[in-house]
Amino acid sequence: MTDDKGSLDGAALKARYLAERAKRLRAEGMDQYIATSGALARYREDPHTPQTTRAAVSEDIEVAVIGGGWGGLQAAVELVKAGIDDFRIIDKAGDVGGVWYWNRYPGASCDIESYIYMPMLEDMDYIPTEKYTRGPEMFFYARSVAEKFDLYRRALLQTEVSELRWDEASGRWLISTRQGDRLRARFVLVSTGQLQSVRLPGIPGVESYKGRSFHTSRWDYDYTGGNATGGLDKLSDKRVGIIGTGATAVQTIPHLGASAGHLYVFQRTPAAVPARNNGPTDPVWAESLRPGWQMERMVNFNRLISGIPQKVDLVNDGWTEVLTGVGIEIAGYNDGDDSRQRADFAYMEGIRARVDDIVMDGTTAEALKPWFNAMCKRPCFHDAYLDTFNRPNVSLVDTDGRGVERISETAVWVNGEAYEVDCLIYASGFEFQTPDLVSRNGFEIFGRGGQSLTEKWAPGMRTLFGHLNRGFPNLFNQTASQSGLTANVTHGLGESARHFAFMVGYCRDNRIRSFEPSAAAEDAWSERVHALSGLRARFDAECTPGYFNNDGQPQAGGGLASFYPGGAEEFIALIKDWCAAGTFEGLDIQHA
Ligand code: NDP
Repeated sequence: MTDDKGSLDGAALKARYLAERAKRLRAEGMDQYIATSGALARYREDPHTPQTTRAAVSEDIEVAVIGGGWGGLQAAVELVKAGIDDFRIIDKAGDVGGVWYWNRYPGASCDIESYIYMPMLEDMDYIPTEKYTRGPEMFFYARSVAEKFDLYRRALLQTEVSELRWDEASGRWLISTRQGDRLRARFVLVSTGQLQSVRLPGIPGVESYKGRSFHTSRWDYDYTGGNATGGLDKLSDKRVGIIGTGATAVQTIPHLGASAGHLYVFQRTPAAVPARNNGPTDPVWAESLRPGWQMERMVNFNRLISGIPQKVDLVNDGWTEVLTGVGIEIAGYNDGDDSRQRADFAYMEGIRARVDDIVMDGTTAEALKPWFNAMCKRPCFHDAYLDTFNRPNVSLVDTDGRGVERISETAVWVNGEAYEVDCLIYASGFEFQTPDLVSRNGFEIFGRGGQSLTEKWAPGMRTLFGHLNRGFPNLFNQTASQSGLTANVTHGLGESARHFAFMVGYCRDNRIRSFEPSAAAEDAWSERVHALSGLRARFDAECTPGYFNNDGQPQAGGGLASFYPGGAEEFIALIKDWCAAGTFEGLDIQHA
């Protein structure tokens, strides 16, 4: 969009962004989604591992790690390294790997550079085969970590926690599982992931559909044929529909387009899809790496995206381009200095021009153009997504922001028209800011005096460092909320894993029975974090709805989407200093 002089027309762009946002705002906000319970529970059942039974476990342990994804695995490795052997990893999945266990959809791939995303590469003496590793390699690697550090013998898999309850008398957490286990742990790490609870759009008729349907994180290869690298041969005579065009859909749609008899892509909001430029690892480069290279690369990435200039951009990809050019920080957009906004307009114009360059049909190209600021939604880098819409067997069904109207026994309805499909795939994402912990995690946490964490956070999230909660002794919540957010999530998880292992070791060495934040420390931290929420609210006010902004209804204080205002690097340094001081400052401590 340009003005008479050929320069970007900021006013027109802003007006278009606001108009597109208005089309998508819904009074029901997040309540437009429905949890996969009751008749819809099959959408979250595990298709990957047959359910087995085992005798219930009853035991006292030092540490329980809930979740065997990259957070739990790194914490377990740190515990092993700290000489803490008496722990369990509990996960409802049939194996470790977390998101990489569940998300086996065709095309699943790491969208952060694998040399910084795959943790512990030097410990493992492993070099990923590509700059952006695919799902199977990631899952294999997670399992290799568990094998190397002997974590499987400590794992309780296919085991779903049903409740955590603090027992004051014994100074332990009582952990109940749906498999009948009763564990008593002195310390608990909750590492359940922030995007793991499957959600479906509450489209009228969603439960009436009689064809085959599943969520992308529970892919049904028996039905589609093929595997995570594609080749979905059983779809060749099928009409397939997919609802959603977020990061998952962008990765899987090229494979569906290549295999399906006909593919209908039901779109509410177009994704921003810059180029990916993946490629195999250069063996000469790999050979040149020296000890310490991975952390150096991770820190370089983190600093760059936190706005700290670096002599060199080691990763040098679409993420560093968008986050250094436009910025993960949201300051500046509505504060008089509009240089950030202008950079963002220019960046998004490039994304829209790319659509015109690739998509041949003009109407389809127009419908695929995103009209929002870059970081309103996660950018979805891909080299084959837009091309897929040039296939004769692929139709984009654009809903102009309204979403799918209804679903019948055989069809998806949009704008009064029925699209008959044999198979319907939900790429509708995961719960994120749902206040109800049971819905998000599958279990409630009851702290001192029987108070639940859901109750505690009802007026707004309050923590120390995002990880610690007053009233919930010896519990460490491994989350990005209220802590340092980085696009390279596994890096953040690695730092919090070290923080957790340090705390467990410190308690052991100093005969500490329990710790929890003081009221003053928790208040001070929460105020500090909330300071950003005013800026965030102003940024969100112009953003298209999505899970970043609680579907257009930001929560008080930023809710789960509030982060340490100084960025991830400053947060990591702050925690390192806190550990190095060795005083457990801000905590109330009871000695054994
Ligand atoms: P998202 O929540 O990002 O996307 C859900 C999609 O469903 C959106 O396009 C949404 O539209 C659409 N939708 C919801 N309701 C309706 C409706 N009623 N009618 C039509 N469409 C509807 O989920 P994803 O699974 O794509 O991604 C979740 C996150 O997982 C990512 O943001 C990322 O953090 C992570 N991820 C990471 C990857 C990686 O490689 N690291 C790969 C894949 C995912 P609308 O936009 O309008 O709300």
